[in-house]
Amino acid sequence: MEVLTSRDIERVAGLLRCGEVVALPTETVYGLAADAFNALAVGKIFEIKGRPAHNPLIVHVGCIRVAEACAFLNPLAEKLIEAFWPGPITLVLPKTRRIPSLVSAGLDTVGLRMPRHELALAVLDALGGPLAAPSANPSNYLSPTEAGHVIQGLSGRLSYVLDGGRCHAGVESTIVDVSVPGRFHLLRPGPLQAEELEAVAGMKLSFGRHSENGEAVVSSPGQLKVHYSPRTPLFLVASPERDSGRVARVYFGAGANGHPDSVEADGYYLSRRHDLREVEGNLYALLQELDQRGYDAIEVVALPQGHQWAAVRDRLSRAAAAFERHA
Ligand code: AMP
Ligand code: MG
Repeated sequence: MEVLTSRDIERVAGLLRCGEVVALPTETVYGLAADAFNALAVGKIFEIKGRPAHNPLIVHVGCIRVAEACAFLNPLAEKLIEAFWPGPITLVLPKTRRIPSLVSAGLDTVGLRMPRHELALAVLDALGGPLAAPSANPSNYLSPTEAGHVIQGLSGRLSYVLDGGRCHAGVESTIVDVSVPGRFHLLRPGPLQAEELEAVAGMKLSFGRHSENGEAVVSSPGQLKVHYSPRTPLFLVASPERDSGRVARVYFGAGANGHPDSVEADGYYLSRRHDLREVEGNLYALLQELDQRGYDAIEVVALPQGHQWAAVRDRLSRAAAAFERHA
């Protein structure tokens, strides 16, 4: 795999224009990007990742003009765009005919966002069009937050990665469905908090799969229970449980909330201060590292319960779901 740098922006744009796939950094995770208007190029993304065709891709844009070529905006979307773009929020909107149905997995909507990352924005600007880009990992494995993770996961299947160092947000974007007037539905928790979105929208977000009166509401295709897992069995525990084999223990802070002051051998902190941003920023990198170290199991100790931790809980519960024992 060829590693490109910030000096290669024009070259990356040229490759994308020719229908190549290039991994590039965003503020959330590394994306596996292709020209979103080019169905052949987009098809390569599904092939490289081994991603099922029913799982739609998020489309990344560098300006509003390109957003409008991809989707029909509405007043609520415009408010959210004004407040949060560029940033880690994906808006699901009715798609235009220029977006191939492969991108949207046959849906008549498309997820759009503008990444808050200098290199991603430079590539989008040089290209002058939209990029379909899911996370640059094999389907179902942990998302990559460093170029090295992309190389580790996709070498032999992918030719180019643009190296932008560590992604600072570290978990995938918050996804909100605003495709129908009156709908403001959280499809995936992420770095942007529900309260921040509600404050700007001036309305409450709906969550989950059922509304108050029990009606089924939109769900997000591809948000499967099992997702984002390491290869090493991972368990969520209230306090350390396993005493046989080599077990890595992952903590969210030191000293408080029942966490040890100084961690034992094979103990790791996502943050020493129980800091949400730091935990999100370190989450995938630490799990990738533990996966390389050959542990028999990973115990994630005392997963925080506050609502602001929704994205971290969501990703870790999905990781653990792969290893749940069925009675
Ligand atoms: P990622 O794996 O981070 O690329 O996330 C893509 C996810 O965004 C998909 O798995 C879907 O859950 C969600 N998504 C993308 N497009 C749509 C859409 N049109 N409607 C609902 N959810 C979408
Ligand atoms: Mg993904």
